[in-house]
Amino acid sequence: MLYDQIVLRYGDLTVKGKNRNRFEKRMLEQVKQSLCAFEHITYFKSFGRLYVKLNGNPYEPVANRLKDLFGIVTLSPVVSAEPDLEKIRAAALELMLSLPETPATFKVSAKRAWKKFPHTSQEMNHLVGGHVLRAMPELKVNVNKPDVELRVDIQEEATYLFYEIIPAAGGFPYASNGKAMLLLSGGIDSPVAGWMALRKGLELEAVHFHSYPFTSDKAKEKVIELAKRLSYFSGEPLKLHLVPFTEIQTTLAAAKSDNLIITLMRRAMLRITEQLAERSGANGIVTGESLGQVASQTLPSMNVIGRAAELPLLKPLVMMDKQEIINVAERIGTFETSILPYEDCCTLFLPKSPSTNPNLRIVEKVESLIPQYYELLNAATEGTEVLVLTPGSQTAIQAAGEDSWF
Ligand code: ATP
Ligand code: MG
Repeated sequence: MLYDQIVLRYGDLTVKGKNRNRFEKRMLEQVKQSLCAFEHITYFKSFGRLYVKLNGNPYEPVANRLKDLFGIVTLSPVVSAEPDLEKIRAAALELMLSLPETPATFKVSAKRAWKKFPHTSQEMNHLVGGHVLRAMPELKVNVNKPDVELRVDIQEEATYLFYEIIPAAGGFPYASNGKAMLLLSGGIDSPVAGWMALRKGLELEAVHFHSYPFTSDKAKEKVIELAKRLSYFSGEPLKLHLVPFTEIQTTLAAAKSDNLIITLMRRAMLRITEQLAERSGANGIVTGESLGQVASQTLPSMNVIGRAAELPLLKPLVMMDKQEIINVAERIGTFETSILPYEDCCTLFLPKSPSTNPNLRIVEKVESLIPQYYELLNAATEGTEVLVLTPGSQTAIQAAGEDSWF
């Protein structure tokens, strides 16, 4: 097997000063966790990088998993050699001969990070390049725009040879920037918002409101599927809170303020989510709202809805177009699940003309007249079920009281 290691680069993380150590430690844990299915892999940490030693594992499945992990900016499959000229030359030639198609042009870019190595970077370009050219006479050198740039990174512990620099997911490692609750519907937007929040290093717990029996088990399964997909990206189990919302919805519907019902529902959702956040130690709420998309997502609506919450509301999609959001959904593999046609609790109660400009005073007045409004919210919080999901998990539903952290 040609490649014996994969090098992971953190990019931005290296400029984060004293946070760097914390991020790098977190990153190593994440990488280990996500590769736990592969045996014999070992790790070597160096400044701003992590070397994953394959020890006989095939390169592709390992690289594919790492490409989706947040905090890694680029990765490269590498061949390592002892820092010895002849060994480096042999490895360089082996790598060039292994290319799927022989390129017309190439160049060697050596970098001598380990200053005790006897040849300078410039000398190495010639010493290695010349060796390759003698064995592959059809190749030409092109220093400005080569088809293949063979990089030779001379470090103290080894010399690493590679030519590919593959973009990875970027962002920050999971749970390195605090914790938030994700309002997860079965739609296209909120899973994308969740992915973007994970990418920023937020630890997430998902919250879904269902109106059983108005919404079906299929609708719930769809949300579970989406949550599982998100847990693949976090590399850790994801908690999904399933909140019974039927009674609240029917009570709100009875308030006979049809055009405000979505506003009222969203405010109730935020209040319940804050109660769950308090128990989970979360410091924010992530939603999939995007400005102007529907009546409840005009700025005046967002204002009145947002007043119900004290925690910061994080809306990663707020300035994105629908098509951009769909593109991400397709890329992260949530789109196909999101477009399955099962009812969401909110669409069921959708009025003919939902308000795009609700009046805060009126909304507060309507809420104050709803009998036992806060008792209903508390009951929904208490009745919440929690699922702990992993990408391939069978799902077991727990009652709220059974969870040890509750
Ligand atoms: P999505 O595609 O995420 O459903 P949307 O464009 O359909 O979004 P809305 O239905 O207005 O917009 O919902 C706005 C946001 O409110 C959602 O992105 C999600 O974060 C939250 N939300 C809506 N319905 C639910 C629900 N049943 N459970 C949890 N969160 C919800
Ligand atoms: Mg929706």
